[in-house]
Amino acid sequence: MKRRKLLMIPGPIEFEPSVLRAMGAQTTSHVAADFIEIFGSSLEMMRKVFLAGSGQPFIVSGSGTLAMEIAIANLVEPGDRALVLVTGYFGDRFAEIIERYGAEVDRIKAPLGYSVELEDIERKLKSNRYKLVTVTQVDTSTGIAVDVRHLGNLAHKYGAMVVLDGVCSVAGEELRQEEWNIDLVLTASQKAISVPPGLALLMAGPRAIDAWKFRKTPVLNYYADFTNWLPVMEAYEARKPSYFATPAINLVGALNESLKLILDEGMDARFTRHRLLRDGMQDAIKALGLKQVPVRRDFTATTLSAIYYPDGIDGQKLLAKINSEGIIFAGGLHPEIKNRYFRIGHMGPFSPGEIIYAISAMESALVECGYKFDVGIGLTAAERTFINSHH
Ligand SMILES: *Cc1c(COP(=O)(O)O)cnc(C)c1O
Repeated sequence: MKRRKLLMIPGPIEFEPSVLRAMGAQTTSHVAADFIEIFGSSLEMMRKVFLAGSGQPFIVSGSGTLAMEIAIANLVEPGDRALVLVTGYFGDRFAEIIERYGAEVDRIKAPLGYSVELEDIERKLKSNRYKLVTVTQVDTSTGIAVDVRHLGNLAHKYGAMVVLDGVCSVAGEELRQEEWNIDLVLTASQKAISVPPGLALLMAGPRAIDAWKFRKTPVLNYYADFTNWLPVMEAYEARKPSYFATPAINLVGALNESLKLILDEGMDARFTRHRLLRDGMQDAIKALGLKQVPVRRDFTATTLSAIYYPDGIDGQKLLAKINSEGIIFAGGLHPEIKNRYFRIGHMGPFSPGEIIYAISAMESALVECGYKFDVGIGLTAAERTFINSHH
């Protein structure tokens, strides 16, 4: 019997043993030749993972929220106007950060369980001049994935940049930053990037770099300022020592290892695997007769599932039973429905085997909680999906 439990929450996630080993290496100097190589090659690999050949990568110590703040601090000036697309909790966080930096915010708030519509976005873009549009590709509080393929071109038509919160999507959900004209993408290490928490990662496209370069006012946050970070990133990539603030050396070592594993799998294969895990989970949820937060498959995230507790079932009891089966799921996060649903993270190194295990634990806990269904019906549905994917 394993002593540790399988962590299936929407971040942090399960990490590969080689990533954890890299993290445990003896700490070296931030200007040692071997660390410069690790930092420099990590920056290069980030471009391939974000599919942003002409992007400028940044690796900074901090969590995803800092990555959001770095983006906004550098791109927004007091008096600017931003359009924030809200599909859950993290959209509202973006709005708060933008307001803190002195810009005006308009929101398009999707009804709970739905994504935002391009027509609504275009109507807003016509009515006002926005410097930027922000979007949460996958909102971790709802499991809604916004289709961002056409958002970049639409925003550019009206002179606005697109800033994408990819904390719960980069390296899991399909995202092609350059092809889709997304001006800045940000993420954090502990989600689909598959590295323990502590790194804020950003990829700024040419428009975002220009917007920062041609600011009229200074960046209102010293630690976040690209002015401090850009020379450091450029130096490491040129394999030269540099310093602004001490990097998280061990985490960068782990990042280097994880980016290698991600690129070994290949981005297309990785997107396909995440879609398959999502579909297996979705088919099981449907077969079990459970309701979930996203109302349609086409905007259901591939990186997590958000499922309502069945009527009359005690959610705390259900999660405790699943925990005793050896798996940790997450409770709710969205303030409107916080105690009515739970979340299963399935991003990063997972395979169909873990999804089957999760469904089995869920079925077992549902039986104990008194939910009526044909035992095994969820498992069969998921297994069928996984088997069919081989043909
Ligand atoms: C987790 C998450 C964040 C916040 O990241 P932290 O590392 O917790 O600060 C922001 N946006 C999204 C979409 C997330 O999933």
